[in-house]
Amino acid sequence: HSLVPIKASGSLRSSPSRSSGTRMTHAQTKKRSQRAADNNQWEERQLMRSGAVRDKEMQTEFDDEEERKVILLVHETKPLFLDGRSVFGKQADPILPVKDPTSDMAIISRKGSKLVREVHEKQSSSKSRQRFWELAGSKLGDILGVEKSTEQIDADTAVVGEDGEVDFKEDAKFAQHLKKGDAVSDFAKSNSLAQQRQYLPIFSVRDELLQVVRENQVVVVVGETGSGKTTQLTQYLHEEGYTNNGIVGCTQPRRVAAMSVAKRVSEEMETELGDLVGYAIRFEDVTGPKTVIKYMTDGVLLRETLKDAYLDKYRVVVMDEAHERSLNTDVLFGILKKVVARRRDFKLIVTSATLNAQKFSNFFGSVPIFHIPGRTFPVQILYSKSPCEDYVEAAVKQAMTIHITRPPGDILIFMTGQDEIEATCYALSERMQHLVSTTSGKARNLLILPMYSQLPADLQAKIFEKPEAGARKCIVATNIAETSLTVDGIYYVIDTGYGKMKVYNPRMGMDALQVFPVSRAAADQRAGRAGRTGPGTCYRLYTENAYLDEMLAQPVPEIQRTNLGNVVLLLKSLNVENLLDFDFMDPPPQDNIVNSMYQLWVLGALSNTGSLTNVGWKMVEFPLDPPLAKMLLTGERLKCLNEVVTIISMLSVPSVFFRPKDRAKESDDAREKFFVSESDHLTLLNVYQQWKANEYRGDWCNDHYLQLKALKKAREVQSQLLDILKTLKIGLSSCGPNWDIVRKAICSAYFHNAARMKGVGEYVNCRNGMPCHLHPSSALYGSGDMPDYVVYHELILTTKEYMQCVTCVDPRWLAELGPMFFSVKD
Ligand code: ADP
Ligand code: MG
Repeated sequence: HSLVPIKASGSLRSSPSRSSGTRMTHAQTKKRSQRAADNNQWEERQLMRSGAVRDKEMQTEFDDEEERKVILLVHETKPLFLDGRSVFGKQADPILPVKDPTSDMAIISRKGSKLVREVHEKQSSSKSRQRFWELAGSKLGDILGVEKSTEQIDADTAVVGEDGEVDFKEDAKFAQHLKKGDAVSDFAKSNSLAQQRQYLPIFSVRDELLQVVRENQVVVVVGETGSGKTTQLTQYLHEEGYTNNGIVGCTQPRRVAAMSVAKRVSEEMETELGDLVGYAIRFEDVTGPKTVIKYMTDGVLLRETLKDAYLDKYRVVVMDEAHERSLNTDVLFGILKKVVARRRDFKLIVTSATLNAQKFSNFFGSVPIFHIPGRTFPVQILYSKSPCEDYVEAAVKQAMTIHITRPPGDILIFMTGQDEIEATCYALSERMQHLVSTTSGKARNLLILPMYSQLPADLQAKIFEKPEAGARKCIVATNIAETSLTVDGIYYVIDTGYGKMKVYNPRMGMDALQVFPVSRAAADQRAGRAGRTGPGTCYRLYTENAYLDEMLAQPVPEIQRTNLGNVVLLLKSLNVENLLDFDFMDPPPQDNIVNSMYQLWVLGALSNTGSLTNVGWKMVEFPLDPPLAKMLLTGERLKCLNEVVTIISMLSVPSVFFRPKDRAKESDDAREKFFVSESDHLTLLNVYQQWKANEYRGDWCNDHYLQLKALKKAREVQSQLLDILKTLKIGLSSCGPNWDIVRKAICSAYFHNAARMKGVGEYVNCRNGMPCHLHPSSALYGSGDMPDYVVYHELILTTKEYMQCVTCVDPRWLAELGPMFFSVKD
């Protein structure tokens, strides 16, 4: 390597002997109690300085008082990929899933909702903070449990419309379609599962469909959402004998869908989940030796191709929800095409909810497209007359207006994520209570039901339950309800027009979930949900012009907008030499591939010429993001594998710290007791080890403000990782109390996220000078001597760039482990 020092900076204060695994000293505890006060000042300082901090300049600072000086030199070395050309250079701009970043919809999507902020404030001040779902259906149900009323309630009496009512353009032609009154179907309630199966649109074409499958190796099946593709196709194949030799697999882009659908199908087949019918998602395999129908995420099947390139155990694979164009599905397309060519006995069925399935058919060589005749009803579409500044507020108002003024029929609201959904449910329940009290109990009950992937499974299942007579359901969901899950009885759809999408953020050097306007195709899918049981209405909280001019016709496939690290690793291990030659339906931009290759090279997974190294081959074995896999392998090398596996498991689950807003102080104090002052990673390790020492007890978690659920999940992940290590015959090792070694292992995987201190709580990324802030909840914050150099797990963009999970490192480690970026001059 020719090292070109471009900028030199920093000095190392002689690291005070940090005995490993120490708990806080008394002095430290005292300092921490000033944390809250510091916090405010600190925020102010940040704001004042943010201009200066953004300045990329890196100075060389020498601290004469220190006995030892280490100067960290920052440089950038380039690998030689592809034909001996160095292909690293400019950072590629990602393809954004938005037509015009200056359009109304794009601007609104970046602003966030005022209502959500208000609800947050309210919740943090209210004493008994109850989750909205505890209200929905149960307690609130009691409060609202009023006699059903046929009397029309005036929309103006209560909740709706103090200011800025959304004004919709009516479509007069449509009115004739609308039948009043007998809207709610009692079908599901009064019929057996077998009868329900026969009622589905796919049932009427069962024999023709099976014949087309018999006569063709690959078939594309198109059918409206809810026609029975996901739940029925697999059962038909089973009934037809395809499971006599081999099993039927069905891939889903979403974990929740895989679990929920498997459960439904096991009920329809009257078997235990995990017996004849099972599912597999990352870190969770609910299948058994008898399983013949296996639902799984597309990522799980993709990983299976590593072990078994031709998927011999599968007789048929159904690639479901192909229209979603998830990253893994797109890669599977290329891989399964090869399986199809190689195995004559193998069948592939690709299903799509949208009509533009020609592309899928063409990809496999003009295979037949089978249409399941729809049984849908017309949906009246109403547009907002002007853009809604706060679409959450607008959706709440619209839902209340529908509930008060429109005939029976359930409501489905599309929001972008958990936060908005919780706020919407909270606001709805508040307004319902108000409505009940101001109408002296004449209001109909409204069953408010959230639906998002992180929601506990038993609460997710509630959306399929029938409400009590006279009550109306209102489901508030993410785009999971767009095509993955179908709920019958929806007559009203409220479409905010937005969704969360994963997009590679070159500034942060990683993927981030961001809110964007959805595509026209997605908006049409959403509207379609209202016409399943009878003619319905879709309220679009955006203008018709926005629909026509600001939305993209189709969503941008994930493969064109996200980091491809895992995909590159996987394809390389499948001996795809040149990724630019791989058979992608829509190839990712070349810059995207090259950037991902560069990151893998930095981690030592790829050689200078772009082939897998020994480390790379081993990394592929773990269902982890490349840096985590690297951390694990260094843990093995440095003999602290036990500790590293625990940390990785803890990083793979939602936060284990429980922080109820009304007991913020108590929970913060409890959290600080676990702090290991040089590292948030080690703090997590400490939490886990103490939980273990207390026999994994739930009451112990409660006492210490820890989330039992998250810890249990971490324990499961850990046991999965240990299983993989066992099959690879990698022996475990522990470093005992010498946790400095663990920090080194972390450093070996995250040196690309190294940051250097610039002021109190202020750091800048060593390589690009980008500001990154220490979060006040970090174990390193306010610990008296904040370290000069840290590495972080990831950067979270909120009001500013916060480092998430931070560990203090020695700059000499950076030079040793990340020589392509750093060297030291002693
Ligand atoms: P598609 O895949 O074509 O969109 P599905 O097979 O998912 O259709 O759904 C078929 C029917 O099964 C729908 O009417 C839906 O309401 C019902 N259904 C699916 N999952 C469940 C469930 N967990 N509980 C109750 N009904 C369900
Ligand atoms: Mg489906």
